[in-house]
Amino acid sequence: MEETKTPAPEASGKDFIREIVEDDLRTGKRGGKVATRFPPEPNGYLHIGHAKSICLNFGVAKEYGGTCNLRFDDTNPLKEDVEYVESIEQDVRWLGFDWHGLFYASDYFERLYGFGEELIRRGRAFVCDLTADEVRATRGTLTEPGKNSPWRDRPVEESLDLFRRMRAGEFADGSRTLRAKIDMASPNINLRDPALFRIRKATHHRTGDAWCIYPMYDYAHAISDWIEGITHSLCTLEFEDHRPLYDWCLEALDLPDRPRQIEFARLNLTYTLLSKRKLLHLVTGGHVRGWDDPRMPTIAGLRRRGYTPEAIRDFCDRIGLAKRDSVVDVALLEHCLREDLNRRAPRFMGVLDPVKVVLTNVPEGTVEELPAVNNPEDPSHGTRLVPFTRELYIERDDFREVPPPKYHRLSPGQEVRLRWAYIVRCEEVVKDPATGEVVELRCTCDPSTRSGDEGSGRKVKGTIHWVSAPKALPAEVRLYDRLFTTEDPDDAPEGKSWVDNLNPASLVVRNAFVEPAAASLRAPAFLQFERLGYFAVDPDSRAGALVFNRSVGLRDSWAKIERKAMGGR
Ligand code: ATP
Ligand code: MG
Repeated sequence: MEETKTPAPEASGKDFIREIVEDDLRTGKRGGKVATRFPPEPNGYLHIGHAKSICLNFGVAKEYGGTCNLRFDDTNPLKEDVEYVESIEQDVRWLGFDWHGLFYASDYFERLYGFGEELIRRGRAFVCDLTADEVRATRGTLTEPGKNSPWRDRPVEESLDLFRRMRAGEFADGSRTLRAKIDMASPNINLRDPALFRIRKATHHRTGDAWCIYPMYDYAHAISDWIEGITHSLCTLEFEDHRPLYDWCLEALDLPDRPRQIEFARLNLTYTLLSKRKLLHLVTGGHVRGWDDPRMPTIAGLRRRGYTPEAIRDFCDRIGLAKRDSVVDVALLEHCLREDLNRRAPRFMGVLDPVKVVLTNVPEGTVEELPAVNNPEDPSHGTRLVPFTRELYIERDDFREVPPPKYHRLSPGQEVRLRWAYIVRCEEVVKDPATGEVVELRCTCDPSTRSGDEGSGRKVKGTIHWVSAPKALPAEVRLYDRLFTTEDPDDAPEGKSWVDNLNPASLVVRNAFVEPAAASLRAPAFLQFERLGYFAVDPDSRAGALVFNRSVGLRDSWAKIERKAMGGR
């Protein structure tokens, strides 16, 4: 796989697919129209790679005044399910797209069958009695041609009769196929008399038991595109070698106004697997909590994690389109989310690993409501009030008994500013005599230093976040790390598999305290806990049992990569 981590911006600002489309429009090819489709197989949930294809197909249609269909490529009844159909519709809509037509390849089974008969009549297809093993054994290799099937030249009438009886259910699974008659010596193995239909006595999630023969992908795809009047059939590079077969199906039937297949590089992301089969394994194997586990690269997982459609669309824009496979740094995806949420997320304070602070010069029972700015990036977010009391919680990590050099947070005898509140000084450290653990910090508060009061003019180097101990609400905070420890999760040593690359610490749960204002948020609200990152309210969250997911931390490794690339530091 070619590795280019930083997506190359297109020189003209336009990718090669849009150039082709514009060219076709200019020259009046394909009726001067643009019709695309997004064709998922409903055998799993959509992932971020599909988002790239969705943004491309729906985006191109929109930009050139065309249409884009959502088509379920449901030709394999064994793996498909309505649960997936529903999730795919939801995810496409959530990403911000709406389809022109909603179709199923299974809508076309009758016509696909009819075209199958037509191919037989034209002498372009035949019923083959070889088993799958026999077909494999006669297919040849990359260097050797295959052998013609002994059934290749059986009379048209005989093939027609057998094809009808295949449909009627007279034969066992795998005993016969309808095969294209192309060229067993073709250097492209896809053209060595590929199967067009196979027998599979399985119940289909839409057509039930109406069919026991099912069309193969390449054939169904080409014909479905043609039926819908698709002009540009955009797919990923692995279909490049299938394009001759796609074209063959349309030519052999002499269909007019044929669509053009164009391939682009699929998205690969560091530390991420984008294979539905493997994602399904993670779900069924209990490695994650479900398809929408916030660690999953599925659209449902990203949504639950706190990703916004805007961030995902921005990411898909930025990665652009290429003709060669590459791996994109997952830091870019995270960067896009940060950029979006920085502008939009209201800020709150929360403490993930609390240690108690007692302000000895603040009287018991004091509750002072201090104004706090909701979003420093956008004054229209307004302000809220944060309760300030004698007892507070701060982050355990914001105190060091023996501060390292340049440590500007709290330590014995030192001062720090409490965000939106006062400067406090640590006077005494109380420890659990048994464990030596710090259990309480006794501090004094300088009442002349209230945040926003210009009066005192005193400045300290550090500012830390905090919550009021009696007023804060307990919350479960779920912190996520990469699901895999290796940049390429498929890269496993001898005797190990990609499953061994799972990160055992990809989920850490903290019992946190959050400021009371955060309690009014309902899923799918997003927010920033100051200094901790961007978070989303999890659908599990209830009044009295708040749950937040950390969507992404604040430190932007992508910005660093960009600065480096531009020669900075
Ligand atoms: P998988 O192989 O994991 O099952 P798939 O490619 O078979 O995925 P489909 O449901 O067939 O999944 O995909 C629907 C469309 O999305 C196809 O046109 C496919 O090319 C595109 N697609 C799938 N994965 C990616 C990806 N990683 N990047 C870009 N497009 C993708
Ligand atoms: Mg596929």
